[in-house]
Amino acid sequence: MAGEARSDCLFCKIAVGEVPATVVRETETTIAFRDINPQAPTHVLVIPKAHHPDAAALAAAEPQIAADVLREAQAVAAEEGAESYRIVFNTGAGAGQTVFHAHAHVLGGRGLQWPPG
Ligand code: 5GP
Ligand code: ZN
Repeated sequence: MAGEARSDCLFCKIAVGEVPATVVRETETTIAFRDINPQAPTHVLVIPKAHHPDAAALAAAEPQIAADVLREAQAVAAEEGAESYRIVFNTGAGAGQTVFHAHAHVLGGRGLQWPPG
């Protein structure tokens, strides 16, 4: 069921501390941690603690928590001192999604090209 922890989900395991991560922020509903393979000086992932397969599913099921993720993404960028930054939700394998637990990438600290390719 959406929202319940999945034993086969990497980010559910990070959310409960079963898999270690460098956590930078945490709220009742979200956790933010550094990406293991950073693509920019700031590369932090913000996830809902509850399991939803992607951002669209999260927004449909729990719009308030989707808003929490966005607010936390902005807070991460501010804490990291990123004046310009990008918030990315890869949605679907064709768009590069590899972990099917909703997450926002917060990328900053360098110039970013558009379109990203
Ligand atoms: P996606 O490709 O699904 O949008 O993003 C998944 C992200 O999770 C990738 O940027 C990848 O580097 C990151 N990632 C994968 N495994 C781990 C892990 O075990 N720990 C952390 N901190 N990040 C991970
Ligand atoms: Zn999960």
